Amino acid sequence: MTKNRFDVVIIGAGIIGCSIAYELAKKNVKVILIDKASNVGTESSWAGAGILTSHATTNEPYPELCRASLDLYPHVTEELKAETNIDIEFIRSGTISVFFDEKEATGLIGLAERRVNRGFSAEILSPEKVWELEPSVSYDIEGAVLFPEDGHVRNPKMVKALAIGASNHGSEFLLGNPVSSFIQENGQVTGVNVNGESIYADSFVIAAGCWSGKIASDLDFQISISPAKGQIVLIESVPPLITRTIDGLGIYIVPRTDGRILLGATVEMVGYDKTPTVDGVKQMIDAAIAIVPELAACKFDQTWVGLRPYYKNGPCLGYIPGYDNVVLASGHYKNGILLAPITGKLISELLTSEKTSLPLTPFEPKEI
Ligand SMILES: Cc1cc2nc3c(=O)[nH]c(=O)nc-3n(C[C@H](O)[C@H](O)[C@H](O)COP(=O)(O)OP(=O)(O)OC[C@H]3O[C@@H](n4cnc5c(N)ncnc54)[C@H](O)[C@@H]3O)c2cc1C
Repeated sequence: MTKNRFDVVIIGAGIIGCSIAYELAKKNVKVILIDKASNVGTESSWAGAGILTSHATTNEPYPELCRASLDLYPHVTEELKAETNIDIEFIRSGTISVFFDEKEATGLIGLAERRVNRGFSAEILSPEKVWELEPSVSYDIEGAVLFPEDGHVRNPKMVKALAIGASNHGSEFLLGNPVSSFIQENGQVTGVNVNGESIYADSFVIAAGCWSGKIASDLDFQISISPAKGQIVLIESVPPLITRTIDGLGIYIVPRTDGRILLGATVEMVGYDKTPTVDGVKQMIDAAIAIVPELAACKFDQTWVGLRPYYKNGPCLGYIPGYDNVVLASGHYKNGILLAPITGKLISELLTSEKTSLPLTPFEPKEI
Protein backbone atom coordinates (compact mmCIF):
# COMPACT_ATOMS: atom_id res chain seq x y z
CA MET A 1 0.00 0.00 0.00
CA THR A 2 1.41 3.41 -0.94
CA LYS A 3 1.57 6.28 1.55
CA ASN A 4 -1.49 8.05 0.12
CA ARG A 5 -3.68 5.02 -0.43
CA PHE A 6 -6.24 3.68 2.06
CA ASP A 7 -9.23 1.35 2.16
CA VAL A 8 -11.51 4.12 3.44
CA VAL A 9 -11.23 7.92 3.65
CA ILE A 10 -13.51 9.47 6.28
CA ILE A 11 -14.15 13.18 5.88
CA GLY A 12 -14.86 14.68 9.30
CA ALA A 13 -13.45 13.57 12.66
CA GLY A 14 -16.47 14.37 14.82
CA ILE A 15 -18.18 11.70 16.89
CA ILE A 16 -19.76 10.15 13.78
CA GLY A 17 -16.53 9.93 11.76
CA CYS A 18 -14.56 8.66 14.78
CA SER A 19 -17.17 6.03 15.64
CA ILE A 20 -17.16 4.73 12.05
CA ALA A 21 -13.34 4.74 11.99
CA TYR A 22 -13.17 2.84 15.27
CA GLU A 23 -15.59 0.12 14.10
CA LEU A 24 -13.81 -0.23 10.73
CA ALA A 25 -10.33 -0.26 12.27
CA LYS A 26 -11.35 -3.10 14.60
CA LYS A 27 -12.04 -5.10 11.41
CA ASN A 28 -8.53 -4.33 10.09
CA VAL A 29 -9.80 -1.82 7.54
CA LYS A 30 -7.12 0.76 6.72
CA VAL A 31 -8.74 4.13 7.46
CA ILE A 32 -7.67 7.75 7.27
CA LEU A 33 -9.74 10.44 9.00
CA ILE A 34 -9.39 13.91 7.53
CA ASP A 35 -10.59 17.03 9.34
CA LYS A 36 -10.28 20.73 8.66
CA ALA A 37 -9.81 21.38 12.39
CA SER A 38 -6.48 20.78 14.06
CA ASN A 39 -8.00 18.36 16.57
CA VAL A 40 -10.74 15.74 16.59
CA GLY A 41 -14.31 16.49 17.74
CA THR A 42 -14.03 20.27 17.98
CA GLU A 43 -17.42 21.11 16.44
CA SER A 44 -20.92 19.88 17.34
CA SER A 45 -19.55 16.72 18.93
CA TRP A 46 -17.71 18.76 21.53
CA ALA A 47 -20.55 21.25 22.06
CA GLY A 48 -23.36 18.74 22.60
CA ALA A 49 -24.95 18.13 25.99
CA GLY A 50 -24.45 14.35 25.90
CA ILE A 51 -28.04 13.39 26.73
CA LEU A 52 -28.94 9.91 25.50
CA THR A 53 -32.67 10.07 25.18
CA SER A 54 -34.74 7.03 24.37
CA HIS A 55 -37.82 9.21 23.95
CA ALA A 56 -36.38 11.37 21.14
CA THR A 57 -39.36 10.87 18.84
CA THR A 58 -42.12 8.37 18.31
CA ASN A 59 -42.10 8.11 14.51
CA GLU A 60 -40.76 4.67 13.49
CA PRO A 61 -38.16 3.57 12.43
CA TYR A 62 -36.20 6.32 14.18
CA PRO A 63 -36.90 5.13 17.76
CA GLU A 64 -35.60 1.67 16.86
CA LEU A 65 -32.33 3.26 15.76
CA CYS A 66 -32.17 5.29 18.99
CA ARG A 67 -32.87 2.28 21.15
CA ALA A 68 -30.33 0.10 19.30
CA SER A 69 -27.70 2.79 19.85
CA LEU A 70 -28.55 3.33 23.51
CA ASP A 71 -28.31 -0.43 24.03
CA LEU A 72 -24.74 -0.39 22.67
CA TYR A 73 -23.57 2.18 25.24
CA PRO A 74 -22.75 -0.17 28.16
CA HIS A 75 -20.52 -2.28 25.89
CA VAL A 76 -18.92 0.74 24.15
CA THR A 77 -18.18 2.29 27.57
CA GLU A 78 -16.43 -0.85 28.82
CA GLU A 79 -14.58 -1.45 25.58
CA LEU A 80 -13.26 2.12 25.35
CA LYS A 81 -12.22 2.04 29.01
CA ALA A 82 -10.31 -1.19 28.45
CA GLU A 83 -8.69 -0.05 25.18
CA THR A 84 -7.96 3.61 25.93
CA ASN A 85 -8.25 3.95 29.71
CA ILE A 86 -10.78 6.78 29.16
CA ASP A 87 -13.99 6.73 31.17
CA ILE A 88 -16.64 8.29 28.93
CA GLU A 89 -18.89 8.74 32.01
CA PHE A 90 -21.93 6.92 30.65
CA ILE A 91 -24.65 7.06 33.31
CA ARG A 92 -28.17 5.74 32.89
CA SER A 93 -29.90 8.00 35.41
CA GLY A 94 -33.11 8.73 33.52
CA THR A 95 -34.76 12.00 32.54
CA ILE A 96 -37.56 13.74 34.42
CA SER A 97 -39.71 15.83 32.08
CA VAL A 98 -41.69 18.27 34.20
CA PHE A 99 -44.97 19.97 33.29
CA PHE A 100 -46.46 23.17 34.65
CA ASP A 101 -49.97 23.15 33.16
CA GLU A 102 -52.63 20.94 31.60
CA LYS A 103 -51.50 21.53 28.03
CA GLU A 104 -47.93 20.46 28.80
CA ALA A 105 -49.26 17.51 30.82
CA THR A 106 -51.39 16.29 27.90
CA GLY A 107 -48.42 16.44 25.52
CA LEU A 108 -46.00 14.64 27.83
CA ILE A 109 -48.44 12.00 29.05
CA GLY A 110 -49.38 11.30 25.41
CA LEU A 111 -45.67 10.88 24.59
CA ALA A 112 -45.22 8.57 27.59
CA GLU A 113 -48.14 6.40 26.46
CA ARG A 114 -46.80 6.13 22.91
CA ARG A 115 -43.39 5.20 24.26
CA VAL A 116 -44.83 2.48 26.50
CA ASN A 117 -46.82 1.09 23.54
CA ARG A 118 -43.51 0.76 21.68
CA GLY A 119 -41.84 -1.16 24.50
CA PHE A 120 -40.03 1.65 26.31
CA SER A 121 -40.54 2.56 29.96
CA ALA A 122 -42.15 5.76 31.19
CA GLU A 123 -43.65 6.58 34.56
CA ILE A 124 -46.04 9.43 35.31
CA LEU A 125 -44.97 11.13 38.54
CA SER A 126 -47.02 13.19 40.99
CA PRO A 127 -45.40 16.45 42.14
CA GLU A 128 -44.74 14.81 45.54
CA LYS A 129 -42.88 11.95 43.87
CA VAL A 130 -40.80 14.44 41.85
CA TRP A 131 -39.84 16.33 45.03
CA GLU A 132 -38.94 13.02 46.69
CA LEU A 133 -36.58 12.18 43.79
CA GLU A 134 -35.34 15.73 43.15
CA PRO A 135 -36.04 17.98 46.17
CA SER A 136 -34.79 21.15 44.43
CA VAL A 137 -37.48 21.11 41.72
CA SER A 138 -39.96 24.00 41.87
CA TYR A 139 -43.19 23.73 43.90
CA ASP A 140 -44.99 25.21 40.87
CA ILE A 141 -44.85 22.00 38.82
CA GLU A 142 -48.04 20.01 38.25
CA GLY A 143 -46.25 16.71 37.70
CA ALA A 144 -43.71 14.97 35.49
CA VAL A 145 -42.87 11.91 33.43
CA LEU A 146 -39.83 9.82 34.25
CA PHE A 147 -38.06 8.18 31.29
CA PRO A 148 -35.83 5.78 33.24
CA GLU A 149 -33.92 4.38 30.24
CA ASP A 150 -32.37 7.72 29.30
CA GLY A 151 -28.71 8.23 29.96
CA HIS A 152 -25.93 10.72 29.72
CA VAL A 153 -22.34 10.65 28.49
CA ARG A 154 -19.39 13.05 28.51
CA ASN A 155 -19.23 13.51 24.74
CA PRO A 156 -15.81 15.25 24.42
CA LYS A 157 -14.25 12.32 26.28
CA MET A 158 -16.10 9.88 24.06
CA VAL A 159 -14.82 11.43 20.80
CA LYS A 160 -11.29 11.39 22.19
CA ALA A 161 -11.62 7.74 23.26
CA LEU A 162 -13.03 6.70 19.87
CA ALA A 163 -10.18 8.50 18.07
CA ILE A 164 -7.51 6.92 20.30
CA GLY A 165 -9.21 3.53 19.89
CA ALA A 166 -9.23 3.92 16.11
CA SER A 167 -5.58 5.00 16.16
CA ASN A 168 -4.62 2.02 18.36
CA HIS A 169 -6.15 -0.21 15.68
CA GLY A 170 -4.11 1.46 12.93
CA SER A 171 -6.24 4.39 11.71
CA GLU A 172 -4.39 7.48 10.53
CA PHE A 173 -5.41 11.13 11.00
CA LEU A 174 -4.84 14.11 8.76
CA LEU A 175 -5.92 17.11 10.85
CA GLY A 176 -5.94 20.83 10.10
CA ASN A 177 -6.68 20.05 6.44
CA PRO A 178 -10.03 20.58 4.70
CA VAL A 179 -11.09 18.24 1.93
CA SER A 180 -11.74 20.57 -0.99
CA SER A 181 -13.01 18.18 -3.69
CA PHE A 182 -13.23 14.62 -4.92
CA ILE A 183 -11.03 13.07 -7.58
CA GLN A 184 -13.05 11.19 -10.19
CA GLU A 185 -11.86 8.83 -12.90
CA ASN A 186 -14.35 7.41 -15.42
CA GLY A 187 -17.30 8.46 -13.25
CA GLN A 188 -15.89 6.68 -10.20
CA VAL A 189 -14.60 8.51 -7.09
CA THR A 190 -11.00 7.47 -6.51
CA GLY A 191 -9.65 10.10 -4.14
CA VAL A 192 -9.92 13.46 -2.41
CA ASN A 193 -7.95 16.67 -2.75
CA VAL A 194 -6.58 18.06 0.51
CA ASN A 195 -4.36 21.15 0.50
CA GLY A 196 -2.79 20.27 -2.84
CA GLU A 197 -2.30 16.63 -1.83
CA SER A 198 -4.24 13.69 -3.32
CA ILE A 199 -5.39 10.89 -1.05
CA TYR A 200 -6.74 7.73 -2.68
CA ALA A 201 -9.04 5.05 -1.32
CA ASP A 202 -11.53 2.36 -2.31
CA SER A 203 -14.41 3.97 -0.37
CA PHE A 204 -15.29 7.35 1.10
CA VAL A 205 -17.48 8.48 3.99
CA ILE A 206 -18.78 12.02 4.29
CA ALA A 207 -19.25 12.56 8.04
CA ALA A 208 -18.71 16.29 8.08
CA GLY A 209 -21.68 17.32 10.22
CA CYS A 210 -23.45 20.45 8.96
CA TRP A 211 -20.80 20.83 6.22
CA SER A 212 -21.70 17.44 4.68
CA GLY A 213 -24.10 18.89 2.10
CA LYS A 214 -21.42 21.26 0.79
CA ILE A 215 -19.01 18.35 0.35
CA ALA A 216 -21.64 16.13 -1.32
CA SER A 217 -22.47 18.93 -3.78
CA ASP A 218 -19.06 18.34 -5.40
CA LEU A 219 -20.62 15.08 -6.66
CA ASP A 220 -23.62 17.04 -7.99
CA PHE A 221 -25.71 15.61 -5.17
CA GLN A 222 -27.80 18.35 -3.56
CA ILE A 223 -28.89 17.63 0.00
CA SER A 224 -29.90 20.22 2.55
CA ILE A 225 -28.00 19.50 5.77
CA SER A 226 -28.08 22.83 7.56
CA PRO A 227 -26.50 24.18 10.73
CA ALA A 228 -28.94 24.41 13.68
CA LYS A 229 -27.26 26.66 16.20
CA GLY A 230 -27.45 25.61 19.85
CA GLN A 231 -26.30 27.68 22.82
CA ILE A 232 -25.33 26.05 26.12
CA VAL A 233 -24.73 27.61 29.53
CA LEU A 234 -22.45 25.97 32.11
CA ILE A 235 -22.82 26.74 35.80
CA GLU A 236 -21.28 25.39 39.00
CA SER A 237 -23.41 23.59 41.56
CA VAL A 238 -21.58 22.31 44.64
CA PRO A 239 -23.15 20.39 46.32
CA PRO A 240 -25.16 19.14 43.31
CA LEU A 241 -28.73 20.49 43.25
CA ILE A 242 -30.03 17.70 41.00
CA THR A 243 -29.00 14.11 40.34
CA ARG A 244 -30.56 13.39 36.95
CA THR A 245 -31.42 15.25 33.73
CA ILE A 246 -34.53 17.40 34.09
CA ASP A 247 -36.26 18.97 31.13
CA GLY A 248 -39.19 21.32 30.68
CA LEU A 249 -40.15 24.77 29.34
CA GLY A 250 -38.15 23.98 26.18
CA ILE A 251 -34.81 23.43 27.90
CA TYR A 252 -32.88 20.73 29.74
CA ILE A 253 -30.73 20.78 32.87
CA VAL A 254 -27.96 18.18 32.95
CA PRO A 255 -25.87 17.45 36.07
CA ARG A 256 -22.27 16.46 35.34
CA THR A 257 -20.12 14.31 37.59
CA ASP A 258 -17.69 17.22 38.12
CA GLY A 259 -20.26 19.36 39.99
CA ARG A 260 -21.16 21.48 36.99
CA ILE A 261 -24.60 21.72 35.41
CA LEU A 262 -25.36 22.25 31.72
CA LEU A 263 -28.35 24.33 30.68
CA GLY A 264 -29.32 23.90 27.05
CA ALA A 265 -30.05 24.53 24.37
CA THR A 266 -31.43 27.02 21.89
CA VAL A 267 -32.39 25.91 18.37
CA GLU A 268 -31.69 28.71 15.87
CA MET A 269 -31.59 28.44 12.10
CA VAL A 270 -29.18 31.33 11.49
CA GLY A 271 -26.54 29.78 9.27
CA TYR A 272 -22.97 29.13 10.38
CA ASP A 273 -22.98 31.88 13.04
CA LYS A 274 -21.47 30.71 16.35
CA THR A 275 -21.99 33.85 18.44
CA PRO A 276 -23.44 33.36 21.92
CA THR A 277 -26.18 35.94 22.53
CA VAL A 278 -27.61 37.59 25.62
CA ASP A 279 -31.12 36.58 24.57
CA GLY A 280 -30.14 32.92 24.05
CA VAL A 281 -28.40 32.71 27.42
CA LYS A 282 -31.30 34.53 29.13
CA GLN A 283 -33.89 32.09 27.70
CA MET A 284 -32.06 29.12 29.18
CA ILE A 285 -31.31 30.72 32.54
CA ASP A 286 -34.90 31.98 32.99
CA ALA A 287 -36.38 28.56 32.18
CA ALA A 288 -33.84 26.71 34.33
CA ILE A 289 -34.57 28.92 37.35
CA ALA A 290 -38.31 28.38 36.86
CA ILE A 291 -37.68 24.62 37.08
CA VAL A 292 -35.01 24.62 39.82
CA PRO A 293 -35.18 28.01 41.62
CA GLU A 294 -31.96 27.53 43.62
CA LEU A 295 -29.96 27.54 40.38
CA ALA A 296 -30.18 31.34 40.58
CA ALA A 297 -27.50 31.31 43.28
CA CYS A 298 -25.06 29.12 41.32
CA LYS A 299 -21.80 30.46 39.95
CA PHE A 300 -21.88 31.22 36.21
CA ASP A 301 -19.05 29.37 34.45
CA GLN A 302 -19.23 29.81 30.67
CA THR A 303 -21.37 29.61 27.57
CA TRP A 304 -20.71 28.08 24.15
CA VAL A 305 -22.32 27.42 20.80
CA GLY A 306 -22.40 24.39 18.51
CA LEU A 307 -23.92 23.73 15.09
CA ARG A 308 -26.08 20.62 14.88
CA PRO A 309 -26.35 18.98 11.45
CA TYR A 310 -30.06 19.34 10.65
CA TYR A 311 -31.57 17.20 7.88
CA LYS A 312 -35.35 17.06 7.53
CA ASN A 313 -35.54 13.26 7.31
CA GLY A 314 -32.35 12.61 9.26
CA PRO A 315 -30.14 10.95 9.87
CA CYS A 316 -29.03 9.93 6.41
CA LEU A 317 -26.98 6.80 6.29
CA GLY A 318 -26.06 5.15 3.01
CA TYR A 319 -24.55 5.43 -0.44
CA ILE A 320 -25.00 8.62 -2.42
CA PRO A 321 -27.19 7.78 -5.44
CA GLY A 322 -25.01 7.11 -8.49
CA TYR A 323 -21.89 6.37 -6.43
CA ASP A 324 -21.35 2.88 -5.09
CA ASN A 325 -18.33 3.81 -2.97
CA VAL A 326 -19.33 7.13 -1.35
CA VAL A 327 -21.36 6.96 1.85
CA LEU A 328 -23.09 9.84 3.57
CA ALA A 329 -23.36 9.55 7.37
CA SER A 330 -24.77 12.81 8.60
CA GLY A 331 -27.83 14.84 9.55
CA HIS A 332 -28.04 13.43 13.09
CA TYR A 333 -29.32 16.80 14.31
CA LYS A 334 -30.14 16.69 18.06
CA ASN A 335 -29.16 13.04 18.57
CA GLY A 336 -25.71 12.54 17.07
CA ILE A 337 -24.12 11.62 20.39
CA LEU A 338 -26.88 9.11 21.07
CA LEU A 339 -26.67 7.67 17.55
CA ALA A 340 -22.86 7.51 17.23
CA PRO A 341 -22.45 3.84 18.29
CA ILE A 342 -25.16 2.49 15.96
CA THR A 343 -23.94 4.70 13.10
CA GLY A 344 -20.41 3.34 13.50
CA LYS A 345 -21.71 -0.21 13.56
CA LEU A 346 -24.07 0.10 10.59
CA ILE A 347 -21.70 2.03 8.31
CA SER A 348 -18.83 -0.33 9.07
CA GLU A 349 -21.12 -3.25 8.21
CA LEU A 350 -22.17 -1.52 4.98
CA LEU A 351 -18.58 -0.87 3.91
CA THR A 352 -17.35 -4.36 4.69
CA SER A 353 -20.27 -5.83 2.71
CA GLU A 354 -21.81 -7.45 5.73
CA LYS A 355 -25.55 -7.58 6.20
CA THR A 356 -26.44 -4.46 8.19
CA SER A 357 -27.96 -5.28 11.59
CA LEU A 358 -30.80 -2.81 10.91
CA PRO A 359 -32.22 -1.92 7.48
CA LEU A 360 -30.72 1.29 6.12
CA THR A 361 -33.37 1.85 3.43
CA PRO A 362 -35.41 4.33 5.52
CA PHE A 363 -32.30 6.45 6.02
CA GLU A 364 -30.91 6.42 2.47
CA PRO A 365 -29.69 9.84 1.31
CA LYS A 366 -32.23 11.58 -0.92
CA GLU A 367 -31.86 14.88 -2.73
CA ILE A 368 -33.75 17.72 -1.00
C1 LIG B 1 -25.85 22.68 21.78
C2 LIG B 1 -25.95 21.26 21.31
C3 LIG B 1 -26.46 20.29 22.15
C4 LIG B 1 -26.54 18.96 21.74
N1 LIG B 1 -26.95 18.01 22.62
C5 LIG B 1 -26.98 16.72 22.23
C6 LIG B 1 -27.36 15.73 23.16
O1 LIG B 1 -27.64 16.02 24.32
N2 LIG B 1 -27.41 14.44 22.72
C7 LIG B 1 -27.10 14.08 21.44
O2 LIG B 1 -27.19 12.90 21.12
N3 LIG B 1 -26.72 15.02 20.55
C8 LIG B 1 -26.66 16.32 20.92
N4 LIG B 1 -26.29 17.28 20.02
C9 LIG B 1 -26.10 16.90 18.61
C10 LIG B 1 -24.75 16.28 18.37
O3 LIG B 1 -23.75 17.04 19.01
C11 LIG B 1 -24.51 16.18 16.85
O4 LIG B 1 -25.58 15.54 16.22
C12 LIG B 1 -23.22 15.38 16.56
O5 LIG B 1 -22.14 15.90 17.31
C13 LIG B 1 -22.90 15.40 15.08
O6 LIG B 1 -21.66 14.80 14.92
P1 LIG B 1 -20.87 14.88 13.55
O7 LIG B 1 -19.63 14.09 13.74
O8 LIG B 1 -21.81 14.50 12.45
O9 LIG B 1 -20.60 16.43 13.33
P2 LIG B 1 -19.45 17.39 13.92
O10 LIG B 1 -19.13 17.09 15.32
O11 LIG B 1 -19.87 18.78 13.61
O12 LIG B 1 -18.18 16.99 13.08
C14 LIG B 1 -18.04 17.30 11.72
C15 LIG B 1 -16.55 17.43 11.45
O13 LIG B 1 -16.37 17.63 10.04
C16 LIG B 1 -15.28 18.51 9.89
N5 LIG B 1 -15.32 19.08 8.54
C17 LIG B 1 -16.24 19.93 8.01
N6 LIG B 1 -15.94 20.23 6.74
C18 LIG B 1 -14.79 19.57 6.43
C19 LIG B 1 -13.96 19.48 5.28
N7 LIG B 1 -14.25 20.13 4.14
N8 LIG B 1 -12.85 18.71 5.33
C20 LIG B 1 -12.52 18.04 6.46
N9 LIG B 1 -13.27 18.11 7.59
C21 LIG B 1 -14.38 18.84 7.57
C22 LIG B 1 -15.48 19.53 11.00
O14 LIG B 1 -14.28 20.23 11.28
C23 LIG B 1 -15.95 18.62 12.15
O15 LIG B 1 -14.88 18.21 12.97
C24 LIG B 1 -26.14 18.61 20.42
C25 LIG B 1 -25.61 19.57 19.59
C26 LIG B 1 -25.49 20.89 20.02
C27 LIG B 1 -24.89 21.92 19.12
